[in-house]
Amino acid sequence: MNKRIPVAVLGATGAVGQRFVSLLADHPWFEVVALTGSERSAGQHYGEVVQWILPEEIPSKVGPLLVRSSEEDPGDVPLVFSALPSSVAHEVEPRLAKEGYVVCSNASALRMEPDVPMLIPEVNPEHLALIDLQRTKRNGNGFVVTSPNCATTGIAIPLKALHDAFGLEKVHAVTLQAVSGAGYPGIAVLDIHDNVIPFIKGEEEKVEQEPRKLLGKIVNDQLQMASFTVSAQVHRVPVSDGHLAALSIGFSRKASLEEARSVLTGFRAPETVRSLPSAPEKPLILREEIDRPQPRLDRTAQDGMAVVLGRLQPCPVLDLKLVSLVHNTLRGAASGSILNAELIVAQGYLGESD
Ligand code: NAP
Repeated sequence: MNKRIPVAVLGATGAVGQRFVSLLADHPWFEVVALTGSERSAGQHYGEVVQWILPEEIPSKVGPLLVRSSEEDPGDVPLVFSALPSSVAHEVEPRLAKEGYVVCSNASALRMEPDVPMLIPEVNPEHLALIDLQRTKRNGNGFVVTSPNCATTGIAIPLKALHDAFGLEKVHAVTLQAVSGAGYPGIAVLDIHDNVIPFIKGEEEKVEQEPRKLLGKIVNDQLQMASFTVSAQVHRVPVSDGHLAALSIGFSRKASLEEARSVLTGFRAPETVRSLPSAPEKPLILREEIDRPQPRLDRTAQDGMAVVLGRLQPCPVLDLKLVSLVHNTLRGAASGSILNAELIVAQGYLGESD
């Protein structure tokens, strides 16, 4: 690519927005030229208003940019990355799509809409075909593609590998989710220090529904949800980054431990995805040590893009059990969304109009 594509980051001052700003600083295809925030930050220089929480410095080209209000037009860019709260995304994202912008969103507002691809490139790249349906139905040249919920991402990638091999019937998922998943400033320290909270609003429903959309099939231009059932119990734990999920899985075809090990370690993205700049060489890493994965040790594997698995064992209730770990603001949010945008560009959807 000769010239980088100018992009905007919506909600750029938050936990996910900051990851976008940092990751895009050296991206070979995209360049951040506009940023938005709430009324709190609008009209001020990004470097002065952002409460920067990452160890690396604020990129020098981005610090001086003026933050726009998320109600404003994000400027002369074809593509926007959205890290807006869902309540705001609900109104802003469809409006921008109608105005012609391509929106790569992390918000939950539109994820379950039947004409909106919820994308993990290694799992369901063919769902990008829903863009045509979306453009027709919503009468706009732009479109929205969302990432799944961050906990869903860590579950859906191993489930994809196992579903293709053995057919999923039942999944029981118990998550242990990091505090950065609640955004910045997020949860009060007095609530989470020395504590575990067995409730995250709306999260169990997302983890139960989203994998069925991700592993669904497009039949006659419509998305058909996969038919397995997921039961989820979620917990907020005092870990900075990295969501763990303990999974018990029942299959329609018998799966030996050896077969499952070989399916998980052999899982690769389709060739079209593997060559994208942010694609990890191995989307799944299976650790054999008895006490891995651990958030602090494993969350940045493959630049935070690999889902790290371990504790693969027979399950006395269902068939197999294992533990998965995902970096919630990288693979589960900003890096995952950047990979989505790369696939959108590579497949020729950017700049293509009716
Ligand atoms: P956050 O830290 O609370 O950041 C929210 C961002 O939205 C800030 O930039 C904030 O701007 C802006 N904002 C807030 N209210 C607004 C309003 N009324 N109008 C316009 N902008 C407004 O949240 P986050 O954790 O980054 O999450 C962002 C989105 O990604 C959410 O939809 C979340 O569900 C999703 N997500 C988060 C994670 C995660 O691990 N954190 C993972 C996957 C998906 P100001 O700072 O200027 O107020």
